[in-house]
Amino acid sequence: MNSIRNLILILGDQLDLESPLLKNADPNLDRVWMAEVEEESVHVWSHKQKIVLFLSAMRHFRASLLEQGLPLIYTELDQGADSFALCLKDTLKEYQPQSVMVLRPGSWRVLEAIQSVCKDASVDLKVSEDEHFFTSPDDFKTFAENRKAIRMEYFYRGLRKQYNVLMEEGEPVGGVWNLDKENRQAFSKSGPDSPYQGHRHQPDVITEAVINLVEKAFPNHPGCLDSFHWAVTREQALKDLNHFIEYRLPYFGTHQDAMWTNEPWLFHSLLSSSLNLKILRAREVVKAAEQAYLDKGVSLAAVEGFIRQILGWREYVRGVYWTYMPEYLEKNALSAKTALPEFYWTGETEFECLKQTIGQTLEHGYAHHIQRLMVTGLYALLLGVDPKYIHKWYLGIYIDAVEWVELPNVLGMSQFADGGLMASKPYVATGKYIQRMSNYCQSCPKNPEKRVGEDACPFTNLYWDFLIRHEDALKKNQRMQLQLRNLNRLSEEERLAIGEQAKALKTSG
Ligand SMILES: Cc1cc2nc3c(=O)[nH]c(=O)nc-3n(C[C@H](O)[C@H](O)[C@H](O)COP(=O)(O)OP(=O)(O)OC[C@H]3O[C@@H](n4cnc5c(N)ncnc54)[C@H](O)[C@@H]3O)c2cc1C
Ligand code: SF4
Repeated sequence: MNSIRNLILILGDQLDLESPLLKNADPNLDRVWMAEVEEESVHVWSHKQKIVLFLSAMRHFRASLLEQGLPLIYTELDQGADSFALCLKDTLKEYQPQSVMVLRPGSWRVLEAIQSVCKDASVDLKVSEDEHFFTSPDDFKTFAENRKAIRMEYFYRGLRKQYNVLMEEGEPVGGVWNLDKENRQAFSKSGPDSPYQGHRHQPDVITEAVINLVEKAFPNHPGCLDSFHWAVTREQALKDLNHFIEYRLPYFGTHQDAMWTNEPWLFHSLLSSSLNLKILRAREVVKAAEQAYLDKGVSLAAVEGFIRQILGWREYVRGVYWTYMPEYLEKNALSAKTALPEFYWTGETEFECLKQTIGQTLEHGYAHHIQRLMVTGLYALLLGVDPKYIHKWYLGIYIDAVEWVELPNVLGMSQFADGGLMASKPYVATGKYIQRMSNYCQSCPKNPEKRVGEDACPFTNLYWDFLIRHEDALKKNQRMQLQLRNLNRLSEEERLAIGEQAKALKTSG
């Protein structure tokens, strides 16, 4: 076998034909390398739809690469490659490339594996920055340097200026950076007027083959495949983007935080999996939203609220991930130790908000931000679930979960496990928050007003238990003072009753 110049690794979440590595590839000297490996589906217990999404998108991408005439080494799942490292090791042995090239992967684990295999084989490794993102980890480090708090808002404002997004003569369009006051409303009593009924990309031959493969290879994994409809090609992702901009973006901001029974999609974009696979480019999504404000009269509140998620939160959490890993993975500021309740894997619980959120997650691999933060995330935080367990659940179960974006959202934003690096206080609330933002409580046997008793809402009970357990630590946090003052009004007897009921919830699993 002749030695080749560059072996270009394309990982499952780097499916962009415009990648600088591919654009500079010479078909006579270089080879592109892709591998489907079992390890990526089992290192966390992955949802079947997530496995199908990655494998099908990779196989569609393979077809595009072949159309472009790029020589490819592609290992399919049933060709026996257990792990990424073993598969790469075999390729290096067989082809002996002069160097290996890769864009920064989506997780520390994969970066380390590549580095270690290349080092052992004495092959030069070049890791380039992924230009899909607006910022690099170095940009974030520069932003974070010498700051006491690294809040998203200031990072986002810097990027608005740098990329001239929704800006006018150096100032934010409309005169304010943040229009959240106009956003984030609940639905009226009758619910959403014209909720989105869900879209379907009918599985084609490639996806059908992958669905059969996954059913056979991973029969015990969570989730079902009947409802698989996610975009697996760039064409499909662009269709989704256009559909969202046309029909749902105008309502996005207003109902961004609202939840409703049997309505998994509402006015969300459903673009995260395509963005994270890189079959959709973050820049084109931001541009399309800005254009909708400029040309189509979509309100600034809706457009700014949406752009903030991508230019702001998405870039910010990636910066946090690469700046604080690998130590970040070990964070557990609240010393949480409880096991994850079994119903997170089945949806079998009488608590309606959890049943709805977990139920739709098992059916589609999807829940929107507030369901993740203020239902499944909040419950785990209040219960005191070990952050490692809840991290693995989120990483396995959501269609868009890649560690760079999942981990800071889970450990930092939802579990306060980083002790306040990302969030200025723990996102804790009673069931009354869920009652305000949804209709879930109407069909729940529990009462969000009650903290003890047979019909007490578990969120409300655990909220008070959380404040009692962490009272000393929270005293140092200015933003928790009001909640602690309310706690002080409870008698010793009430505190004991709350603790007893919370103990029962923690052991009921
Ligand atoms: C506990 C928890 C875990 C999460 N895990 C993931 C994850 O594994 N992968 C993931 O992509 N997002 C994650 N998020 C962020 C957010 O919930 C999802 O991006 C969003 O729900 C995806 O649905 P959508 O495409 O309809 O988003 P929309 O509500 O339409 O938002 C538009 C886009 O903004 C981006 N976005 C929004 N919020 C965030 C955020 N907090 N961080 C980063 N990007 C954001 C996404 O790319 C999303 O597609 C998590 C949030 C929480 C609270
Ligand atoms: S009462 Fe409590 S458990 Fe039931 S739906 Fe409302 S918040 Fe959830």
